[in-house]
Amino acid sequence: MTRKVSDPTPPANQFIGQESLSVEIHQTLLRWWGFDTFRPLQAEAISAAIHGHDSVVVLPTGGGKSLCYQLPPLLSQTTDIIISPLVSLMKDQVDSLEAIGYPAAAIHSGLSVNERRKTYQRLRSGALRLLFIAPERLFNSNLIETISHLSIQRFAIDEAHCISQWGHDFRPEYRQLSALRNHFPQASFHAYTATATPPVRKDIAEQLHLKNPEVFVGIFDRPNLTYRVIQRTNRTTQILEILGRHPKEASIVYCISRRETERLAKHLTASGLLAHPYHAGLDAKKRHQTQEAFAKESIDIVVATVAFGMGIDRSNVRLVLHTGLPKSLEAYQQETGRAGRDGLAAECVLLYSPADVFSWEALIRRGAESSELPEVESQKLIDSQIVHLQQMRKYAQAARCRHAFLSEHFGQPYELSNCKSCDVCLGETTNLADSNTVAQKIISCVARVSERFGVRHLCEVLRGAQTAPIQRHGHHRLSTYGILKSFDQRICENLVHQLLDQEYLSRSIGDRPVVMLNEKSWEILRNQRDVILLEPRLKKAIGSQKESDDWGGVDRTLFDRLRQWRRKIADERGKPAWTILDDRALRSIAREKPTSPATLLNCKGIGEKRLADHGAALLTLIKQHNHKSV
Ligand code: ADP
Repeated sequence: MTRKVSDPTPPANQFIGQESLSVEIHQTLLRWWGFDTFRPLQAEAISAAIHGHDSVVVLPTGGGKSLCYQLPPLLSQTTDIIISPLVSLMKDQVDSLEAIGYPAAAIHSGLSVNERRKTYQRLRSGALRLLFIAPERLFNSNLIETISHLSIQRFAIDEAHCISQWGHDFRPEYRQLSALRNHFPQASFHAYTATATPPVRKDIAEQLHLKNPEVFVGIFDRPNLTYRVIQRTNRTTQILEILGRHPKEASIVYCISRRETERLAKHLTASGLLAHPYHAGLDAKKRHQTQEAFAKESIDIVVATVAFGMGIDRSNVRLVLHTGLPKSLEAYQQETGRAGRDGLAAECVLLYSPADVFSWEALIRRGAESSELPEVESQKLIDSQIVHLQQMRKYAQAARCRHAFLSEHFGQPYELSNCKSCDVCLGETTNLADSNTVAQKIISCVARVSERFGVRHLCEVLRGAQTAPIQRHGHHRLSTYGILKSFDQRICENLVHQLLDQEYLSRSIGDRPVVMLNEKSWEILRNQRDVILLEPRLKKAIGSQKESDDWGGVDRTLFDRLRQWRRKIADERGKPAWTILDDRALRSIAREKPTSPATLLNCKGIGEKRLADHGAALLTLIKQHNHKSV
C-alpha cells in the first residue's frame, strides 16, 4: 500500500508495545498538527480510545478535547463517529481539519444533495477518519444502516453534559444516544465535556451505558486568563476603556438583553470601533454574517447575548467582557472559556452592579410564574436558579483570588497563594476609605425616609439633589439630606447596592422595591459591626506579567503583517482565519523569523501539510519584512 507523505500512519497492527505506540502517537501529533507536546490528560484520553476503553473526559474549554478524538482514527485507519450538538461546531472542526489535510466530514441539514452524496461515498469507501453528526440526525436517516456496515470502533460524544438533566444545558435529543450501545456493541464510547460536576459525570456514564469507563478530569483553572471584577458605575465609558486595552484584538462583549447589544454596538461603532450586535432575535442570515465576519477576522468585536458562543471557536479571543452579571458560575466559566483558547494571555472582565442580582431575581420569578409548571415544581426551579445566582454574586463580591474561587467551585483546590492574574492578587481593588462612616450615613438616611423609598430616591436625598419628590415629601429638611454630596449619583447607588448585597440592608420584593433596615443595619449604626465597601472605581495600570511574557521577542510589525496575510487567505478560502494558522503559530513565526522550510517547521503549529501549503508564502513574507526593516 502506498501512503502519502502527509499520512505518516502505519496500520494499527504494526504496534507491538506501549513504547512504540507512544512514539507513534507523538509523531502523529507533530507531523499532522505541528505540536510537540500534549496538553494535560490528552495522552491518557487518546490511549483509552486507542485501547477501546470507554471514557469520560472532562477538560476545561480550550483544554484540547477535540484532539483526543481526532488522533486515534489516524492510527487505527478507521472511521470514528463524533456526535456534536451544533452545525456551526461541526463545520468549524471540519474546516480546521481540512486545513491540515485530515479527511473529515459532517452530515447536517445544510448540505446540498450533491454534497451529501459525496460525503456518503467517502464514508462508504472508508476514506473518512471522522464523521460529525448531530444526535437527532443519527436515528432519523439511513445513516445507522450505512455505518453499521463499516465496523465502527469508536463513538465520541461531544458536549456530553447535554445528556444529563442535572447539567445546565440539557438537550432531550441527546437522550436517544443511550440506544447506540445496542446498535454497536463492539464499539467503545467516549464522552467529552467541559462542565460536569460529579453527579453529572455519573449520569453521563449511566445514560450512555458506559462499561467501566476511565474518567479523566482536567484542571479547571485557566492560568492564561486574567480575571477582573469592576464595580459598574459609568458603563459605556468603562466598556470603551477596557476595549481600548485590546486594539485590533478579538473581543466578545456580553450583554443581558437584546436591546442592549444593539444599542451598545451602535455606540461603539460611533466611537470608531467596528462592532456588530448578535442575538437570537436577529434573522438567521444576519447572525451568520456576523459569525463568519468574526471567524474570518474582518471584525474583531461582537456585542452579544449569550446566544453567541457555542460553536465560536476563534482561538485568539483576547477579551471577554460581561457588562452584566451572568446567571451562574457554570455559565460564566463557559463564556469566559472562549477567551484565550490558544493558551495565550487573555482578559475576562465582569462589570458588576449588585442591581443585576435584583433584576435576575425578578426575571427568575416572572419566568417561573409564566412557566405553567405545578407550584411545587416552579418553586424548585426558582430555588435552584437563585442558588446559582447567589454563587455568582459571591464571586463578584469576593475580595479573594478569583482563580482560587473558580477552581474551588468546580471542586478543585487551588495551590498558588498569589495567581498574579486576577484583580485581587494584582492589588487592583481598593477598599473605600472610611467604609463604616459611609455605611452609617446611608443606613441613617434609610431610617429618616421611613423605609419607604427605593435606591434612586434614597441616593438623591443623600446627595442633596433638588427633585420634585424630595420637595413633595419634605426630604430636603432631613438631617441626612446632602450628607454624601461629594459622591456621584451612580457611585452612591453602587454603594447602597453593595450594602444590600452584603445583607446590611434589605429590600422589599415587588415591582417597586423599597430599601429597609434589618438587624445588621442596627448593628452597624451601633458600631457593633465593621463594613468593607469596595471603591467603585478602576485603578489604572493594567497588564499582567503573563501578557508581556507571551509577546516576549515577538516582532509586532511582522505579526501584524502575518495577520493581514492570514485574513486574505481566510477570505479567499472562505474559512475561519484561525484554521489557517492560529495566533500562537503567528507569534512563534514573528519571534523566530525562520528563513528555511526546516526552521519554519520548528515553529509552533506548523506541520507538514501547513508547510506544503503556506511555507513558500510565509518565507517570502518574512524575507520581505527583513528587507524592509534593514
Ligand atoms: P476544547 O474542545 O477542549 O475547548 P480545542 O480542542 O478546541 O479545545 O483546543 C483548543 C486549542 O488548543 C486549539 O486551538 C487547538 O489547536 C489547541 N491545542 C490542542 N491540543 C494542543 C497541543 N497538544 N498543543 C498545542 N495546542 C493544542
